[in-house]
Formats: sequence, C-alpha cells, structure tokens
Amino acid sequence: MHSPARIRKRVLLAISAGIAATLFFMKPPSWSSGSCWSLDSDITRLHRSIDSLGAILADTLQVRTSLIGDGFLGGALWDAGVVGNDYVNTCAILRDSLLWRVQHPGDTLAASFTHGELVEIRAIPRGGRGFYYISFEPGGGPLSWGYVRQDEWTRIRAVTCTVTSTVWESLSEGGLPRDLTPTGSILTHRDSARAIAYVTELQHELTDRLLAFDIDFYYDVQTGDRVHLLIEEVRYPESSESGFRRILAAKYEFAAGRIVEVFPFYHTPDSSDDLVLDHYHRDGASIRTMFLKMPVPFGRISSPFSGSRLHPVLGYSRAHNGIDYAAPTGTEIYAVGDGVIMMRQSSGGYGNIVRIRHGNGYETGYGHMSSFAAGQAVGTYVRQGEIIGYVGSTGLSTGPHVHFEMKRNGQYVNPAEEILPPVDPLEGEELVEFQAGVRALEGYWARMSEDLPDPPEEAGGA
Ligand SMILES: [Zn+2]
Repeated sequence: MHSPARIRKRVLLAISAGIAATLFFMKPPSWSSGSCWSLDSDITRLHRSIDSLGAILADTLQVRTSLIGDGFLGGALWDAGVVGNDYVNTCAILRDSLLWRVQHPGDTLAASFTHGELVEIRAIPRGGRGFYYISFEPGGGPLSWGYVRQDEWTRIRAVTCTVTSTVWESLSEGGLPRDLTPTGSILTHRDSARAIAYVTELQHELTDRLLAFDIDFYYDVQTGDRVHLLIEEVRYPESSESGFRRILAAKYEFAAGRIVEVFPFYHTPDSSDDLVLDHYHRDGASIRTMFLKMPVPFGRISSPFSGSRLHPVLGYSRAHNGIDYAAPTGTEIYAVGDGVIMMRQSSGGYGNIVRIRHGNGYETGYGHMSSFAAGQAVGTYVRQGEIIGYVGSTGLSTGPHVHFEMKRNGQYVNPAEEILPPVDPLEGEELVEFQAGVRALEGYWARMSEDLPDPPEEAGGA
C-alpha cells in the first residue's frame, strides 16, 4: 500500500510534471495571425504519469484518435492502435470498473503513446458531460483510471500581449481565444457577451488578485508593457466553446524594465485532502496575506470593534467583539482565509453563523447570514475568497449585515488592527519542486518573448 506521504509526493511530482508537459505542448504564439493565443494540443487534465514525462519532453508523444462508428468498442480500440494486453485491460476497465458498457456511434477514443507504448486512453462519449481515462505505465499495466466531469475538463492556454491602450483593451483585442465561440468569431450578442465575460473575469483575476499586491494598475501601467499569461480554460466540447477558469502563471514586464512574476504551485494543505493551487513569487514567498481585509466584496462598516457599546437590540452596553459590515441581503460572504468550517448552523443571537478554523491559532466567524453556500458542511476545507454564505439579518440584528469576528488563540482580536500574517512560504521538498516549475516557465516565457514584435513607436514623438 502507498503511505499517505508517498501518495502526496507522487501527486506533487505528477502535477509539476503535468505543467511541464503542458508547457512543452504550447507553441509560442504567432503575432502575425492577429491573435496572441496559441495552443495546439488539448492537454486537458494534468493526468499523465510521471514516467511519461521524459518522453513527452523528448517530443515522442503520439496521440491517435478513433471514432466509434457502429457502437463497437473493440474496433475503435484496434483503430487507435490499442492491442494485446492493453486492449484486454482497457475493455475490462471501461466496462467493469468505469461501467461504460454501452457505446454509441460518435463516441470517440484517444490513445496516447510514447515510443510505441501506451500511456493514456481517453474515451469520450458523444454529447456527454465528460470523459473516461485510463493511465498506463509505459510498457506496464494500467496505473489509474476515472471519470473527468465536464466542469473539470480544462486545458491551458498561453497568451502574450503588448499593452497598447488599457490592459483591458489589450487583453480583449489580442487575448480572446478563437474557439471561445463555436464559429471562431464573434457574430452574435451571445458571443460578445461571452467574450466580455471572459476578459472581465481574466482581468479581475489578474489585477485584483494575482498582481494586486505588486502593481498599481491606475498609475504604473505604460504603453509597451508586456503581459504573459498561462490561463486555465474550461472546455465545453459539445458546443465547441471555451470559458475562462483561472490564471496559472503571470509575468508583467514593464517597458521601463521592472518585472513582476507570479508562479503556480499545487499542493495539499495539512488540513485538507484536496489538491489546491496557490501562487508564489520566485523565492517561494506567497503572493497572499493570510486574510482578506473584509469578508464582503463591498460594504460599509456599520459598527466597529469595541470594548463596549450600546447594543441596538438588547438596549444595554456590551462589548462588540467584531466588525459589522452593512450590505444588501444576498451579498456574497467570503472566507477571509483558507481553513476548515468548524460550525455552520443557527446559533442564538448570531443567527446563521459559519465559523472557520485557520492556521496559526486563528479562527473567524460570520454571523446573521440569510443562507449558507451550497455544497459545504462542517469539516469542509474552504479557500480564501470562497463564498461561504450570504448576507442577511437572522438572529439579533436590526438590518442586513455580516457580523465578522476573529479570534487568535481563543481571544477576540480586532480584525482591523490585526497585522495580517503572510501565508507560509514554500520550504524543503516543496520549494525544490516549485523551483523546477519556475525554470520550466522561464524557458517558456523566453520563447514567447522572441515572437513578440517591438513595442510600437509613439506617433509624433519628439
Ligand atoms: Zn456585530
């Protein structure tokens, strides 16, 4: 059996390998085409085994696809070059373990090989909501298999732009993927709404989250700055559309020379079994502080933290152990930091409250919610910025607001005065893994830069 530590290590390796593999598949974008998007291969989940990485980097990966023409799986496997034990194993796993027993004309198979050895099979039901996969040890048997849902069906794109007007305009002029829409062009109102949503989400992630701590987008941005991004997209195969998911890596190169970079790293936090993506600077320091400044996207402080105040409902003075943010009913409430939900229920004067335990002895609470976020429970690990509920006025409350409180080592503290600690930096084995990823990205950024034209000359310059 694998020990948990060993499994974790394998996951780390596989993921960094996956990123390297994906980088390899991306060709530098072609500027002359008028689009700065380019990705040849549909590298979807980062599933390829560590053993195939060398082969992938050596450019020996071959993908053969075949269509299940008449509903006969065996024929399609044969057409894709899957024979012998691989054939027998694939049939058995698809039918008996993955329960994909009935195939239809139009279902697709994709088999990946390296040096003639099978490394992965994907079976993609036509019009389905995802695909089945089986990973193989090259020259060996099946390693792992599963089903990837459509909402997890992602791929990675590279984009590079030169800022000519605003960052937003540069991204939307140069940065829209050709297959954002089924036709490859923006023809309908729906297409343009999708395009605007894509760039809006992209820009929000870039300027409000990833680079917010390092770049002032009102004052710092200049014509001729360059932006390099690795973007994760969701694929909707049946409609041939893509949607923005998140940014994996970003490099902002100022025309004046300064460079701001943000690198990705996948890891498994101690309090969770989930693999999560975090962003770090080159030295392994996190880009984030441990907590957001406030738990709502907008809101006004209606009652600050205080040792004693006249309680508006109770009518007598008592301490206010938190900060109240007034906001309309239904406003999203965010977890201010990563942590585990330890309470999620109606609790006296707090009304509906969520309490979260974070690292370093911190705990936060969010009261008076109108409702909780779907799909969470006590014990759920939530990320910083994840929605945990919605503003309301349950419990002892005179109007819609969130009562936000923070404890450190069991004592109430004023969140506004707490010096927000940084997220722990990467260390040891994780730092070594991360640095390998940084080097892979550096090489890729360099290749992308070679293909960019020089910044445009200022018209009528003196
Ligand atoms: Zn309060």
